[in-house]
Amino acid sequence: MITVLAGGVGASRFLQGLQQVVDPAAISVISNTGDDVEMFGLHISPDTDIVLYALAGAVNPETGWGLTGDTFAVVDQLQRFGYERWFNLGDRDLAMAIHRTRLLRTGVPMHEVVAGLARDWGLTCTVLPMTNEPVQTMITGPDGELAFQEYMVKLRTELDVRSIRFAGIEAAKPGPGVIESLADAEMVILAPSNPFVSIGPILGVPGVRAALETTKAVRVAISPIIAGQVVKGPAAKMMTTLGYEVSALGVAKIYDGLVDLFVLDQQDRDLAPKVEALGMRTLVTDTMMTSMERKAELAREVVAAARGAR
Ligand code: GDP
Repeated sequence: MITVLAGGVGASRFLQGLQQVVDPAAISVISNTGDDVEMFGLHISPDTDIVLYALAGAVNPETGWGLTGDTFAVVDQLQRFGYERWFNLGDRDLAMAIHRTRLLRTGVPMHEVVAGLARDWGLTCTVLPMTNEPVQTMITGPDGELAFQEYMVKLRTELDVRSIRFAGIEAAKPGPGVIESLADAEMVILAPSNPFVSIGPILGVPGVRAALETTKAVRVAISPIIAGQVVKGPAAKMMTTLGYEVSALGVAKIYDGLVDLFVLDQQDRDLAPKVEALGMRTLVTDTMMTSMERKAELAREVVAAARGAR
């Protein structure tokens, strides 16, 4: 089994490649629910849904989130009734949220909801929410604290992040299957996701970090930072304001003690000796996942290097 800790867009690009090069039934994805949000009375799980859509081949390739060809009639109509329009939820995306919310309200636990959705999308891999309990990523900026989606979508990340907290995490238990998927895996891959708000909440669920520290699996991380920049999203800005060096080396330091093999982009070749000095092996390759072929090739290289690192 190959277990992947996943956020949204960066993770799902990698997963699209991985499912081409290994049997999808052997893939377990632990998905971040820290950026789940309630909108219009509905439970929205942005990262989990990006992963489901991407693995099903239905994700909008231009945005990396939402469904290809989706329309926005419902949120447009809601705006006429005075609702805020900042959260772009497509009509078919909304159907997922209605279905999920209905099941949660009838008492179905989140892991069963997600397993059902994965089946409905025809997936054979396992998608595990990190926890069934509510955890909410909160961002503190210069003027106080706000929920992650407000920072990410409403403010378009135009805010200096001073600190990040995961409300509810102390009381959260790893979702059913999460610890087993770490303990029993052949390899565990930290996807090229935001280390603070995508991988961070997963590692913050009590027991998860310890399971990663003690697993016999080869542990791999892929840098989401290439040549000192993000491909997309606020990770680099967060690294700056939170006091980290904005580079693949900075990411490797965040994962120190949790990773055996660190994957850096070829543009960051010069950083490899410094990453190795932290006690990790390195794989230097083209990590820019610009095409389906490149996604598959990267996944093939990562899996081969991890097997070689045993
Ligand atoms: P989010 O929750 O939707 O923001 O998605 P993730 O946390 O999974 O991914 C965001 C991270 O993915 C960003 O820091 C990006 O730099 C990184 N990313 C996106 N595409 C690529 C890519 O093609 N290669 C690499 N190495 N990183 C990528």
